Amino acid sequence: MTLGDEAGTRLRLSGFPPTRVVGRGRGWYRGDCHVHSVVSNGGELTPDQLVVGARAAGLDFLATTEHNTSDAHGAWSRYVDDDLLVILGQEVTTQTGHWLALGVPPGHVVEWRYGVRDNMVDRHLDEVHRAGGLCVAAHPHAPFPSGTFMYPYRGFDVVEVWNGQWSSDVPWQADNEATLAEWGRSLAADVRQGQWRPAIGNSDTHLVDQIGIPHTVVLADELSADTILAGIRAGRSWIAASDAVELSFTVSAGHRIAGIGERLKIGGEPAVVRVDVRGVPSGIVSFHTEEGKAYSASLPDTGSGTVKWHTSAENSTFVRIEVREPRGHMAALSNPILLA
Ligand SMILES: [Zn+2]
Ligand SMILES: [Zn+2]
Repeated sequence: MTLGDEAGTRLRLSGFPPTRVVGRGRGWYRGDCHVHSVVSNGGELTPDQLVVGARAAGLDFLATTEHNTSDAHGAWSRYVDDDLLVILGQEVTTQTGHWLALGVPPGHVVEWRYGVRDNMVDRHLDEVHRAGGLCVAAHPHAPFPSGTFMYPYRGFDVVEVWNGQWSSDVPWQADNEATLAEWGRSLAADVRQGQWRPAIGNSDTHLVDQIGIPHTVVLADELSADTILAGIRAGRSWIAASDAVELSFTVSAGHRIAGIGERLKIGGEPAVVRVDVRGVPSGIVSFHTEEGKAYSASLPDTGSGTVKWHTSAENSTFVRIEVREPRGHMAALSNPILLA
C-alpha cells in the first residue's frame, strides 16, 4: 500500500504487516536510526518530507524516534510497502540523559520520567530487550540540560558516538570528539572482557537537510528490522558522514579474513590490516588499538585509496579506523575488528 506519497517512494514498516523481505540479500545497508518528525518538539518535517530526504541521502532504512511518544507510529503505517525500511522506535528523554529504544512494538511507549538517582532505567532497558529491541545511549556529551548522559553504559547495547544534531554547518562537533575519546578508551578493557559496546552514528534530524548526516552502514543478511538491529548489536557497522563516503576494512592472516565487528584468530601469525576508502579527498586514515593511534596515512586528492598496516594479536587486541577530512572533521568511523 502506498498512500499520500507524492514522491512515488515505497516504504516497508517493521511491525506493520505485510512485511515482505526485499533488499539486496546479504550486504551493506545505510540507515539513520535517530529521526524526528513534526510530532517531536523542534521537529519541522512530515514523514513524507523525511522519506524524500532519506532517499536523497542514499539511505536504505530509518528509525522513527520521537520524544517519549509512539504517536508517529501510526502515521508511518500509511507508508507500508517494500522498499525503504522504517524501524519503530522512541527517544526516551529522561532527566539525566536521552536514550533510543529501537525495534519496539507498534504503539509501545517507554517510560521517561526519571533520572539516574531513581534507579529506574534498568527496568526499562529490560522491557525493551524483552520485546527484542535495542537500547542506544544517545549523544552522551550533548551540550544542553538533561542531554548529558549520566547513566552507566552497562545495560545499553550501543553508544551513539556520532550525533549530527548540531552539525548543520560542520559534520563533527566537540561533543562527538568527547564521546569518541571515551568510547575508544573503554574498548581496551571491554574487548578483553568480551563485552564491548559498538558505536552508531545518527543525524538526530529535526530540520531539513539533516537526515543521513551522519548515518550507519550495517552488514545484514537482508533489509529487515531484525537483521539490521542484529548487525548494529554485533558491531558489524561503520559510520559515514554521507553516502559520498565508502569504506572497506578487513584484517587477514594467511587465507583467513575478518570484517568489521568480527574476531580473527591469528595466534602468532602476522596480520594485514587493509582499508579502502572513496570520497574523502586528501583525507587521513588512522588505525587505533588499545595503544591509541597506532598508524596513519594520507589519501590522495582524488579521495580514493588503499592503506595497509601490519600488526599482530600480541600488539593489538582490536583495530578500529577513523577517516578524517584534512581539517579534522570525521568522514568515516568504524567499529573494531578483534584479534586473538
Ligand atoms: Zn536527544
Ligand atoms: Zn533526538
